[in-house]
Amino acid sequence: MTSIRADQIFLQRINRITVLRHIRREEPISRIDLSKRTGLSPSTITNITHYFLEKNLISERKSPATGAKGRRPVWLSLNPNGGRLIGVEIRKEVLRGAVTDLSGNVLSYEERNVEDPGDPQKLTAEVRDLIGSLRAKVKRRPKLLGVGVSFPGVLDPGTGDCLLWADAGWGRFPLKKRLKEEMEVPVLVDKDARAEALGEFWFGVGQDVNDLVFMKLDGEVSAGVVSDGRPYRGRRGLAGEIGHITVDPRGRKCRCGKVGCLETKVSVPAVLERAREVLKEHPDSSLAGEKLSLSSLYRVAGEGDGAARKVLEELAYFVRMALEVVAYTYDSELVVLAGKMVEAEGAGVLLDKLEGSPIEVRIETSKLNEHRGIVGAASMVLHRLVVEED
Ligand SMILES: [Zn+2]
Repeated sequence: MTSIRADQIFLQRINRITVLRHIRREEPISRIDLSKRTGLSPSTITNITHYFLEKNLISERKSPATGAKGRRPVWLSLNPNGGRLIGVEIRKEVLRGAVTDLSGNVLSYEERNVEDPGDPQKLTAEVRDLIGSLRAKVKRRPKLLGVGVSFPGVLDPGTGDCLLWADAGWGRFPLKKRLKEEMEVPVLVDKDARAEALGEFWFGVGQDVNDLVFMKLDGEVSAGVVSDGRPYRGRRGLAGEIGHITVDPRGRKCRCGKVGCLETKVSVPAVLERAREVLKEHPDSSLAGEKLSLSSLYRVAGEGDGAARKVLEELAYFVRMALEVVAYTYDSELVVLAGKMVEAEGAGVLLDKLEGSPIEVRIETSKLNEHRGIVGAASMVLHRLVVEED
């Protein structure tokens, strides 16, 4: 690809995203106002809105008569009947799926328990079945535009093959190919954290930026990156796998086999384990009389308990380290934090400690809550339609 062509693709992507975001935020809006608001030329606005009208993503109508002379401007709005998206989240214990509209609102939701996550054929058949059941809920109009699937394992960015899902014991498996069989709509598959990053970009706290890092601190630690308005995967699909960066060479053994990974410091099990250790040295801590959980840890630390504060300080140190890693690696405008570590009751004591860190990056917590995974998966379909890239 020549660099001129690459520049054109980049500009087209950013301009389309900008225009659709403005229409969503300020609808109904005329082309002239869109041009003023975005700084794009009237002819660029005409081209882009033409594309969106063709794809049914937006609709137009005459503005009401005001008695003023001249032609009444045409108003553009997001087309509420422009289509439906399906998002599916694969997890080891559960499959979740939803039909959403173009704004990521969940219209119907289904979930299923996974009986045997270690069998790729069986699990894939269950996912197809769930998709089939969701499809039955979408009428002929607004029609289904595609299916996005968020997956916890490592995927080949080119083929959508699973390369490794260690937790469930999967090796190589043609995931996307299996899911696509006999589906006449586009089927997209991506790593969970990357899908969730895209969900924040289209429907969450990242709607005003073109670059963001989504960082999930939960049972595991992972990140997803959106760069220049598109998901960044890397050559082998490993971009954002920050959980297994070594941060303490003399630390604890990680489930990946290495020693002292970030995940051994800031994941939920790791922090609770560390709290138990500290409590052995401080049996007089008021945390000792509590049922140990993240929220009891945060609450007791907030009350000034020494042992709980020690655990919290260590945790904050490593979360800041993780923030620095992503800030210096991707230099993005926004880091979105999500997962139990920052969403448990009382997590404000941790978030307070992240403020004023030397890295000047905006930090926000996700607001997409329990539907984050499926909404992220659904956003992949919208993204593909808008920018014509997966
Ligand atoms: Zn590890």
